[in-house]
Amino acid sequence: MERPGTRARAADTFGLGEAAKAFFGHGSPRVIAGLLGAALAGRIVLGGWSWWDLLGPAVVVALQPFTEWTIHVLLLHFRPKAIGPLRIDPLVARKHRAHHADPRDPVLVFIPLPALAALVAGLAAVCLAALPLERGLTTLLGAFAVLAAYEWTHYLIHSSYRPRHALYRYVWRAHRNHHFRNEHYWFGVTVHLADHVLGTFPDKTAVPLSPTARTLGVADAA
Ligand SMILES: [Zn+2]
Ligand SMILES: [Zn+2]
Repeated sequence: MERPGTRARAADTFGLGEAAKAFFGHGSPRVIAGLLGAALAGRIVLGGWSWWDLLGPAVVVALQPFTEWTIHVLLLHFRPKAIGPLRIDPLVARKHRAHHADPRDPVLVFIPLPALAALVAGLAAVCLAALPLERGLTTLLGAFAVLAAYEWTHYLIHSSYRPRHALYRYVWRAHRNHHFRNEHYWFGVTVHLADHVLGTFPDKTAVPLSPTARTLGVADAA
């Protein structure tokens, strides 16, 4: 039988090194790390640096709170719709419901690989079509870095690693409130600026305990 406090002690000893090792055991972090490396190498080979290289990544980072919030609200929490015989229920929404149903399953924490492939293709198309090659590649590099930060933060929040610093504790608590208090609030993952601006960062005690936090109100969570 497990002695009282054993699990708490195990969590206390789960450090960032172990977390990183486990993180890179999953597909999405490996793909993103590979893309980051390839984009960085390509950008260095290309040369032709200018101050304009800072602009693209700065825009990506500035938009990130709202990007994260919008994708979470509109896409990940999308409720299945039937149009005649057609059922609209995107893969990412199904996988996100599965993540809410079992927040401790590490496999369900990550962006599903088909969705990641589509996202990367879309980002590459936009960055490289809209901007000169050098600036486009730097912007893409910024987007991959933000993607890596998102996956790492989300993974860490759901791992046994316990917050040791105030900033991470704030992010950790907010996402746990989204899962275990009320799924209609705290939509940010790495940053909560959009939640504060758009009124979805209440005091925990100001909102009721939601009975649908694990199902998102959809009976057939997949
Ligand atoms: Zn989560
Ligand atoms: Zn959610």
